[in-house]
Amino acid sequence: MPTPCKFTVLVIDPSPSNQQLICDCLDPLPDVLTLALDSGQEALKFYEDYPPSLLLVDISLPDMDGITLARKIRSREQLGNDQLLTPWTPIIFLSSVMDENLLAKGILAGGDDFLHKPVSEVILLAKVRALLRIVGMQRDIHAAHRKLREISTLDGLTGIPNRRHFDDTLAIEWKRCLRSNSPLSLLLGDVDFFKQYNDTYGHPAGDTCLRAVAHALNESLFRVEDTVCRYGGEEFVAVLPGTDRDGALAVAERMRQALKELQMPHENGINGRVSCSFGLACLHPTVDLSMQSILHLADEKLYQAKRQGRNCVAH
Ligand code: GH3
Ligand code: MG
Ligand code: MG
Repeated sequence: MPTPCKFTVLVIDPSPSNQQLICDCLDPLPDVLTLALDSGQEALKFYEDYPPSLLLVDISLPDMDGITLARKIRSREQLGNDQLLTPWTPIIFLSSVMDENLLAKGILAGGDDFLHKPVSEVILLAKVRALLRIVGMQRDIHAAHRKLREISTLDGLTGIPNRRHFDDTLAIEWKRCLRSNSPLSLLLGDVDFFKQYNDTYGHPAGDTCLRAVAHALNESLFRVEDTVCRYGGEEFVAVLPGTDRDGALAVAERMRQALKELQMPHENGINGRVSCSFGLACLHPTVDLSMQSILHLADEKLYQAKRQGRNCVAH
């Protein structure tokens, strides 16, 4: 099976003979697929569907000039960017006009290089090679960035999302539920008598227990929008957007059941087993309410569950 090409170079030139010349010139590059199009509109459409690794743009295209095309590409890169790192597709202009001002304008519009036609095959090949090398490094940086973001939002002990992720998720879902006028539920869970668990079985066993609890809570969520995070210590929090009180109660009961099925011995626990108490808060976010109000409410309810004897859900 042929291996997919590492890079795609898109040539935008109205002349079929020029297209052929450039494609032939780039032929010696390994892992590079070269494609050619005639117009700016076609190039934009292609860019949206299959973002190429590099663009070779003739400065005078039939529908829009190459500089306008470069500007449009740069603004699309900014628009479609939900990451902290902006994507960048190198653009080399090709021009039969030898004009310094045009060159300066092209670079200001977002171009990266400017070559005069007829282009020397050696120079074109060298320039494309150099820019693709940077594209490769850019990919590595993006991959490392994605990895770091992933690590920074996961809890090291349990592998579920951490407090930072919870803070971000709550802010996003609070706003979303405010806009859609739908309820938002929070479930704050806390392992019962966990200090005594550590005292009896040791800290490493306590860690194992927290991992099992996190897994059981996570497995109790059925909807993709729902998230359970480690809130801190032996406390966990589930964010349930668009879920009313009855729905959240059902989730909490599933969680309690999942923990019961773990059957983890705890000689000082409720019925000799590891259990959790839950505080449930359900609100319809409004502009008058602060996001912290739902958290305070869940916290109050959790203390109520502890007072009521633990291993239960207060709401
Ligand atoms: P309650 O039923 O009222 O919640 O009592 P509790 O003992 O669970 O609550 P307390 O706040 O007194 O104790 C929490 C314990 O959780 C104390 C702390 O050492 C332990 N803990 C917090 N984080 C970790 C952790 O990452 N690993 C382990 N093994 N223990 C932890
Ligand atoms: Mg606690
Ligand atoms: Mg506890």
